[in-house]
Amino acid sequence: PKKIVVIGGVAGGMSAATRLRRLDETAHILVLERSGYVSYANCGLPYHLSETIEKRSLLILQNPITLGARFNLDVRVRHEVLSIDRQSKTVTIYDRVWKVTYVEKYDYLVLSPGAKATMPEGPDAKWILAMRTVEDMDKAIAWLYPNPEHAVILGGGFIGLELAENLIKRGMKVTLIHRGKQLLSYLDPELAIAVAQRVRASGVDLRLESSITSFTRNSVTLADGEVISTDVIFSALGVKPEVHLAEEAGLKIGHNGGIWVDNEQRTSDPNIFAVGDAAEKIDAISGDERLATLAGLANRHGHSVANAIAGARTVPATPTLGTSILSFDGLVAATVGWSEKALRAAGRPVRVIHTHPADHAAYYPGAQTMRFKLMVDPETDLILGAQAVGGHGVDKRIDVISTAIFAGITASDLAQLELAYDPQHGSAKDPINMLGYVNRNIAEGLTKVIEWHELDSALDSGAVLVDVRTEGEYKYGHIEGSLSFPIDVLREHIRELSGQKVVVYCQVGQRGHTAARILAQEGIDVVNLNGGYLTWKAGM
Ligand code: FAD
Repeated sequence: PKKIVVIGGVAGGMSAATRLRRLDETAHILVLERSGYVSYANCGLPYHLSETIEKRSLLILQNPITLGARFNLDVRVRHEVLSIDRQSKTVTIYDRVWKVTYVEKYDYLVLSPGAKATMPEGPDAKWILAMRTVEDMDKAIAWLYPNPEHAVILGGGFIGLELAENLIKRGMKVTLIHRGKQLLSYLDPELAIAVAQRVRASGVDLRLESSITSFTRNSVTLADGEVISTDVIFSALGVKPEVHLAEEAGLKIGHNGGIWVDNEQRTSDPNIFAVGDAAEKIDAISGDERLATLAGLANRHGHSVANAIAGARTVPATPTLGTSILSFDGLVAATVGWSEKALRAAGRPVRVIHTHPADHAAYYPGAQTMRFKLMVDPETDLILGAQAVGGHGVDKRIDVISTAIFAGITASDLAQLELAYDPQHGSAKDPINMLGYVNRNIAEGLTKVIEWHELDSALDSGAVLVDVRTEGEYKYGHIEGSLSFPIDVLREHIRELSGQKVVVYCQVGQRGHTAARILAQEGIDVVNLNGGYLTWKAGM
């Protein structure tokens, strides 16, 4: 029988091992895991800090005994692989319990060692907490046991925000320090701002464009000299692929520092596979190599590896869209594909659509508005990305867009999708359908739009700015220099506007579209401000 050694017993490694057993009852499958646990739900770890997930045991889905019983796997926890010898097809293992080193042979080796948390360096680094393993969580819980008052979190990505949410829920004060101008760098700024607003509203002392120059066990010093005293410091500064074993064994490393793999997850050695956070992926939009630390990909690729080793039909890995979602205090931010800023930075032409739909019929109680943004290739009408921030219904809309991108459905065809609707769950014209309609209007030249970041140059070149909302809305807040011609009386102002270049705007872009149609049909050169006042304001 074949002998398969798997390094790393969580998302990717355990998916490979269990699928392999389902395909091959005779293989010897040995799983080596450095930590004390396998098959743990790392995505759930931060939620135990606030006892939102009350029972620690719920986070540990399997153990060596249950995996042995059901899958006949040879699972060894607290066993760290120290090196790989490709010549002799062996791995050298350190048993952390008995403190002995020994060697095991393999026919196939699967690398799923994950990623390493980036930690600040310094003499007091040992006091900084991370959140990757069950042991990290246990250590944090021990530190939080005396109910300290204040925490500093370094980094405003997924894990930083999840930590902040749960520490606030625990009743702590939190200072979140983030180097970038905005949280969640993969979002465009006019959507990310909604996340920052919610983070601040929840009580977090959020410091953007801020970084630390030094730290002690109980304080951090910021670049501007401010010293913040604290009880605990968490690092959520991002991760790097764990590649030292692969590198030392001479396996090819990809452009982004992950282990290079082909579309069956095979490394540059045909007997060694790699999956999960440690392996490079192919980006679905650019076709280039990238990293993506997502649990779904680790599981899917683990499955493919098992197929390849067992000689089952293999489904080549599909490129990744980086589909992801995060909740913070009820606010949901989700994304798929590329952002507008990434597309523009790469010099790719992009058509952008902004909408602000309600998740379900606005007349049914509890409707929540979301900010939605779609990025489209203007030549092919194919969807390049989408982002949404809101409450209910953000998840399903982003998943529909992800499915549409995968299936090659064009942006205009989103209008044709038949989606489940009753007043509690959607609208007769679902937010997804609306994106399709708006896209088609723009693509077919029925309406011309400009982006919030293009408005200043349009005004500099002499365009007249017209607010078509009600007088009340205008009084409450408007773009400086705009005329107030509410849409219901706009036709009375056509003479004043004729012969001029006009930019119209409303609150979210919908009345602006109607206004633009009224003026365009009178021969006026008019553009609608994409996403309206709300998007402009968020972007400024
Ligand atoms: P891991 O699941 O990290 O497993 C790697 C294992 O390998 C580790 O247990 C490690 O101890 C072991 N190992 C490493 N080196 C060795 C060695 N030399 N010898 C033996 N064992 C070794 N993804 C999402 O899609 N959605 C989420 O909501 C989400 N939330 C997350 C929240 C947290 C707090 C964390 C930490 C991650 C989250 N992720 C999320 C990311 C997701 O968990 C990872 O993408 C996924 O677990 C990667 O799987 P993997 O098998 O590559 O690595």
